Formats: sequence, structure tokens, C-alpha cells
Amino acid sequence: VQFRVLSMQVCIQRVISLTLSEMSRLGHEIVYDPPEKPLNIWMDPDKMVQLLINLFKNAYESMEDNKKMAIRLYERDHHAVLEIEDQGSGIPAEQLDQIFNPFFTTKDSGTGLGLSICHKIVQDHNGTIEVESFIGRGTTFIMTFPLAEPES
Ligand code: ADP
Ligand code: MG
Repeated sequence: VQFRVLSMQVCIQRVISLTLSEMSRLGHEIVYDPPEKPLNIWMDPDKMVQLLINLFKNAYESMEDNKKMAIRLYERDHHAVLEIEDQGSGIPAEQLDQIFNPFFTTKDSGTGLGLSICHKIVQDHNGTIEVESFIGRGTTFIMTFPLAEPES
């Protein structure tokens, strides 16, 4: 495990670069207006990138072509808050408490492992992850991570 201090902005930018060609192939747009102040996190960058790629992938797999994904990053109570919102199918209420379980999938060729890995990565970073979803409108994953800066 390779923990170090890195800003969430750098991490998100890396994930956007990695997924950009697939996103534009599908006609999706990413809306992202990062804060100027670097939100520094004590993180394993490879794991953090893997977490975000899993969430991006689920987002664009749930959307019809030519939709928008919004990324919101901000600071609250000495934490970085990261929201990833899609305009996809949404998740039925009765499935919301199962999606983080290993092997839970609604896809023909899904592994159901993506979100269970996400959950583990968030825990390993002392973070939290929650989901809000509306059928036919979309889904938002909301994460918080403690900032690496000392409180002042
Ligand atoms: P997989 O993508 O292989 O199915 P995941 O663990 O990544 O496995 O996701 C589990 C299930 O949660 C998905 O099959 C899908 O039903 C639901 N899900 C996850 N993210 C989204 C999303 N952004 N929009 C709609 N459904 C989602
Ligand atoms: Mg997945």
C-alpha cells in the first residue's frame, strides 16, 4: 500500500483523462468545476483512481447516450466532499441496501464487484460513501474524506 498526500483535484483529473475517450464516444459530457484550493487527502492514489473509475463506469453504463455526469468537489468540516451524479436509470429503492454487496449485479455481464471494492477503498481512507437515487432521473454517490491538513 502506497499512501501519500495528494489533492483530490489531481486524482479526479487523472480519472477524467483515463475515461475521456469512452465518455466522448458515448456522447457524454462531464460537468466539473473544481475548487481552486487543493483538497489534500492522505491517500493511496492508485486505489483512489480505481474507486473513481468504478463509479464513472457505473455512471456511464447506466446512461443513455448524450447525457451529463456532474462532479462536485467541495470542502465541509475539514473533509473533502465528492459527489458524482449521473442522469442514468436510477436504482430501485429496494436494491439500495444491496448494491455494495459483493456479486450484486443487475447487468447481464456484470461482476457485481465494483461497488464492494469502492466501499472497501473508502473505508481504507477513513471516508464515507452514500447513495441517492431517483428512478428515471439518476443517481448520486456522495463521498467524504478527511483532509490531510491540520485543523487550524
Ligand atoms: P456491476 O457494475 O458489475 O453490476 P457494481 O458493484 O459496480 O457491479 O454495481 C452493482 C449494481 O448497482 C449494478 O449492477 C447496478 O444495478 C447498480 N448501480 C451501481 N451504480 C449505478 C448507477 N450509477 N446507476 C444505476 N445503477 C447503478
Ligand atoms: Mg460496476
